[in-house]
Amino acid sequence: MVKATIAIHGGAGAIARASLDAETELRYRRALRDIIASGQLLLADGASALEVVTEAVRQLEECPLFNAGRGSVFTAAATHELDACVMEGHTLQAGAVASVSRVRNPVLAARAVLQHSPHVLFCGAGAESFAEQHGLEMVDPAFFATPERRAQLTRAQASGQALLDHDAAAGDPLDPDRKFGTVGAVALDAAGHLAAATSTGGMTNKQPGRIGDSPLPGAGCYASDGVAVSCTGTGEVFIRTLAAYDLDAQMRYGGLSLRQAAARLIDEKIVQLGGSGGLIAIDREGNVVLPFNSEGMYRGYGVVGDAPRVAIYAEDAQ
Ligand code: ASP
Repeated sequence: MVKATIAIHGGAGAIARASLDAETELRYRRALRDIIASGQLLLADGASALEVVTEAVRQLEECPLFNAGRGSVFTAAATHELDACVMEGHTLQAGAVASVSRVRNPVLAARAVLQHSPHVLFCGAGAESFAEQHGLEMVDPAFFATPERRAQLTRAQASGQALLDHDAAAGDPLDPDRKFGTVGAVALDAAGHLAAATSTGGMTNKQPGRIGDSPLPGAGCYASDGVAVSCTGTGEVFIRTLAAYDLDAQMRYGGLSLRQAAARLIDEKIVQLGGSGGLIAIDREGNVVLPFNSEGMYRGYGVVGDAPRVAIYAEDAQ
């Protein structure tokens, strides 16, 4: 019998050793633990994997610690452009939105696309009016802004980069200027079905209109009847490697185990193209992997009936 399980991530990145702040670290760990625990409760109640990953990512979007929903990073034009995707394994159904700035929870818009549209991906104003027509909460774009993210934009613009490599100031366990704060969830439900969801504000100081891997099924998010995957990292490399689908293909056509496929993807393929980041994935037997090639990744998982396990650094036990 399968054990219903949820795994989540809040982005990968470099550790801000200079500014390690025990209290902030605790806030991250607590947020991850609470969201896993609520996913475990839903799974124990018989919720579908799709419902569980959507709700976990909605909660991650609501938490300003993570770069998705409220707390999303700024574009170079000091605006917000949010991307999200959900996918259900056994039906191969997917829904996604890109470049939205008025939908409070992009993951709910992605779920609405999956449920109510023959299309898979909507962007910009069209995505927003679709979400509005389906009764989702709309907000002023200023809703997503936080002072920390604005300061990050100022630092990124001063250095002329899309991502900085110094000057961690906020006391986060992962350097706010060198982390990918995308969020994601994967789950296996009691019926043996899999689903994945990913949501992001993208990268600080990105060019307006730039879309990363997160809303693209097969790149930053994928689920089949064999595996569910959510990625975080250098979006362009995850797109070029079709990272999330690559994991499925290695297992399906190459006969690799989840662990072998994930290691090959994250430690070899992504690195060879100069990318960094990680992923979370769960297979149909309930095996979970949470690999990354950066110094840390906010992550955790919970099997129904067991205590949630949460980790940030590479050396954390999982
Ligand atoms: N992959 C995301 C993007 O490129 C960034 C992240 O993981 O935080 O938009």
